[in-house]
Amino acid sequence: MVEKGGLEKAKVIIREDECKGCGLCIEACPVDVLFEQNVLNRMGYHPAGYKGEGCTGCGICFYQCPEPGAITVFKKGYVEEEVT
Ligand code: SF4
Ligand code: SF4
Repeated sequence: MVEKGGLEKAKVIIREDECKGCGLCIEACPVDVLFEQNVLNRMGYHPAGYKGEGCTGCGICFYQCPEPGAITVFKKGYVEEEVT
């Protein structure tokens, strides 16, 4: 979604199929907005999920995650580009 002027709030996106369900990001998040989902991904792990509100964009989860590409953090004000 494109938001004029950039994102109003920070957010985090977790690619469920890249997640190994280690829980490091969940433990590390200082505002407790990540959780273990009660579903299995294609590798048979319970992936982490975002509660949808409250992310500060601190990036701690990103640096904790051992799986490259599983977590993307968008800071407040980030301008998302339209994919054409
Ligand atoms: S960026 Fe920070 S606040 Fe947002 S989910 Fe990750 S650890 Fe939590
Ligand atoms: S740290 Fe990465 S691999 Fe571990 S639960 Fe979080 S997103 Fe999944």
